Amino acid sequence: MMAENLQAALRYAKAGYPVLPVYGLRGKTCTCPQGVACETPGKHPRGSCLCGSVAYVVEVTPFMARYCHCSRCRQARGAAHASNLVAHIDGVRFTRGADRVVTYKLPEARYFSQAFCRDCGSPMPRLDRGRNIAIVAMGTLDDDPGIRPSEHIWTESRAPWFEIADRLTQHPGPPPPS
Ligand SMILES: [Zn+2]
Ligand SMILES: [Zn+2]
Repeated sequence: MMAENLQAALRYAKAGYPVLPVYGLRGKTCTCPQGVACETPGKHPRGSCLCGSVAYVVEVTPFMARYCHCSRCRQARGAAHASNLVAHIDGVRFTRGADRVVTYKLPEARYFSQAFCRDCGSPMPRLDRGRNIAIVAMGTLDDDPGIRPSEHIWTESRAPWFEIADRLTQHPGPPPPS
């Protein structure tokens, strides 16, 4: 059984999917990218928009989560900052209403765009094919994703009325190259 799962994991690795620590080598058949190698079939964190037209699931262990205080994120989310979860693009899948998701690309930006439900305006996962990542607005998660934000970025653009009250690392500008 173990060998079988190991082979499955190797198959997925060869197909270009990252081999991930949390949803490791044990488990049953799952429709997620890790398939039979998935440790938690049917237990992936879900999210949805305000009106319910759009729903999605995060099927891989995210790379990271962080708060972004840049003015674009503040305007796009209408909030003090964005709370972004970043995962491999193949690990975030729309389960409902993908055709209701509209994307606005900021003309002058290299990457920045905002994906949202056309019916209610909730920010929905943005699938960035250029960088092979999905960016999930954590406020739209219905389940606990497990991961917690680890840092603040673009704090030099922080809203003057918002105070950072945690002890996470703060970067004045973009995240340092990883
Ligand atoms: Zn909606
Ligand atoms: Zn930002």
